[in-house]
Amino acid sequence: MSKTFKIAALAGDGIGPEVMHEAIKVLRAVEKKFSLSFQITEAPVGWAGIDAAGKALPDATLALCKESDAILFGSVGLPDRDPTIPKEERPERAALLRIRKEFGLFANLRPVKLPKALAHACPLRPERQGDGIDILVVRELTGGIYFGQPKKTENYSIDETQADEGATIFIKRAQRAIDTMVYTTPEIERIAHVAFKAAALRRNKVTSIDKANVLENGVLWREVVTKVARQYPHVALEHMFVDNAAMQLMLRPTQFDVMLCENMFGDILSDEAAALAGSLGMLPSASLGLTSGVHTFGFFEPAGGTAPDIAGKNLANPIAQILSTALMLRYSFDLEATADAIEAAVGKAIAQGLRTGDIFTPAETNAKQVGTREMGDAIAAAL
Ligand code: NAD
Repeated sequence: MSKTFKIAALAGDGIGPEVMHEAIKVLRAVEKKFSLSFQITEAPVGWAGIDAAGKALPDATLALCKESDAILFGSVGLPDRDPTIPKEERPERAALLRIRKEFGLFANLRPVKLPKALAHACPLRPERQGDGIDILVVRELTGGIYFGQPKKTENYSIDETQADEGATIFIKRAQRAIDTMVYTTPEIERIAHVAFKAAALRRNKVTSIDKANVLENGVLWREVVTKVARQYPHVALEHMFVDNAAMQLMLRPTQFDVMLCENMFGDILSDEAAALAGSLGMLPSASLGLTSGVHTFGFFEPAGGTAPDIAGKNLANPIAQILSTALMLRYSFDLEATADAIEAAVGKAIAQGLRTGDIFTPAETNAKQVGTREMGDAIAAAL
């Protein structure tokens, strides 16, 4: 008998429940078409968790995540809700950071895909878009300068000698801030393996981003990635300095397949790359943890937030959430062909001219503006 995949579905706040509803609709269609079995259990998180159980990540929700094969997440946070709640208890920290830590999610994968039909949504001129942009940014998520110690702001004194007053010494009080960028060989190795494995499922090219001309971290990063590459002879490796990478993303984004980045460079470049897709509503993301058996535990969510401005109005684009299910099937469940089928169904709905408000322009005469539910229906039907 085939395995039943256990999925914790945490919709969260704002548009979360609406887009999650469409993603589950698509997963149910996938079950039928591919004779798969998903046990999907929904649980509150974010403000929904605070309302239901007094905590952004209720104990029961965390317990459900622990007994699941993957977490399908919506988004959390409502900026206008109760400003008196301390930062550490607000959903963005209490739920998201806690889950990242709890499950050791060290790899963040952000695919950025701009289908030809949505060329108008991209800020680049059409001739820079080639046959469509298709990049996967693989970002290390738990190391580097965001976490390295020491990390502090401290007082310090500057001795200033004033010559014309007979070498009087003044002590000037100032502050200094210290962040530490640190990576170990195993940390670089494991994220490099994620990038090479991902490239092997795509176009077999990894561009590793560093600043080896200035940073010690960059030199070690380059050495370790080069060594790991030897285990993947079919995947081509190139190295690029981060400043050049930022420029190349604007000039010739079609040259990239997988971009492998340390934490801070990945944070910045993945947002830059995301802008190429035109709308946050199109962008899924995966955070992967340690592999248990053949399966990698993962956390799958749209790149955007709770979009309070459009929540509850059937306006949100459900594609990012639906594409997150495709990433879950690909990276946690090893169901590559099924993941491809979901992505193809999204492509079909786009090719049919269906557009939610964020990707609609009246200039596209064949396009039709639809709501969240209609887009979900069309994608489920396209399967
Ligand atoms: P946002 O991503 O929610 O919205 C930014 C803009 O993008 C808005 O105009 C919104 O309407 C639009 N947008 C986002 N997703 C869309 C979709 N699926 N379809 C159509 N349009 C979409 O960012 P924000 O407004 O800065 O943040 C709102 C809240 O979300 C904040 O509380 C923030 O902390 C939280 N947030 C949560 C996550 C997460 O849970 N991972 C990520 C980012 C922001």
